Amino acid sequence: MAGELVAGVDLGGTKILTVLADRSGRVLARVKVPTGARRGRDPVIDTIVDSVQEVVRQSGAPFSAVRAVGVGAPGPLDQDRGVVFLAPNLGWRDVPLGAILGERLGMPVWLENDANLAALGEHSYGAGRGESHMVYITVSTGVGGGIILDGRVYRGAGGGAGEIGHMTVAPGGPVCNCGNDGCLEAVASGTAIARRARALVDDGRGAGILAAAGGDPDRVSARAVAGAAAAGDAEALVIMRDAGRYLGLAVAGVINLLNPSAVVLGGGVMQSGAVLWDAMLEEVRRRALDSSLAAVRVTRGSLGGDAGALGAVALALTPEY
Ligand SMILES: [Zn+2]
Repeated sequence: MAGELVAGVDLGGTKILTVLADRSGRVLARVKVPTGARRGRDPVIDTIVDSVQEVVRQSGAPFSAVRAVGVGAPGPLDQDRGVVFLAPNLGWRDVPLGAILGERLGMPVWLENDANLAALGEHSYGAGRGESHMVYITVSTGVGGGIILDGRVYRGAGGGAGEIGHMTVAPGGPVCNCGNDGCLEAVASGTAIARRARALVDDGRGAGILAAAGGDPDRVSARAVAGAAAAGDAEALVIMRDAGRYLGLAVAGVINLLNPSAVVLGGGVMQSGAVLWDAMLEEVRRRALDSSLAAVRVTRGSLGGDAGALGAVALALTPEY
């Protein structure tokens, strides 16, 4: 068994998910712990090391059976040198995470942008399996993406490819974290959906949404809006449909640009029911060119919150991705 196992780590702003898998990608053990980013850099790195050791201990395999570790970190980063350039959620800048972990764990450690790894996870083990040309989009608190072309992660000239969340879909619209206005993330993310609903509630409207949030304005979330929309609340329906339409604009653009065989959509907002999904698909059908539309499957991701960690497993097994 020596060297037959790999670990995959999904390093997020709030939690670290670590899995141990065999060569076929079968998960043998998993550990999920809070990131505790406020403790600073070194304690977080300690927690990653502990998680890898713990997941091996849980599996019952000897540590020597592990041959490599893949790590997904918030980008942008240099995957060749294993350096995280900037991760605001972690408070990190220019951290040589790959080298530090490699030394601590005594094995090769491969680093990649978390959205690219989620794409790789769905491509290797999930809804995009077998697709040579696949685009993955995750819609949760933010909007991210990863592109697989000819079976490989497409990173672009400087590692910045796939930032679909910052595609402008509503010029003059809400201002994005990146400073531009009308980015997809600013109009279709869970944060954007919740923000629009809160503005309604603050304005004395949105009674159905407020009820879905248990009557507490502080608990008005994208989930509450989705719940109200599913129950037929008119204001919630408008918000979810608009978010879906903006998403559809971006997906249609991606289909026309890349002619992928699959577009896989993951993240919590994509689990929010039929209203947003149907509005997205309607827009895609309206705007994608017929020939490309006929060639593409638009589908939900199948790995849920495990996509990133499983992508890290795929990376550890096949670093040349
Ligand atoms: Zn932006």
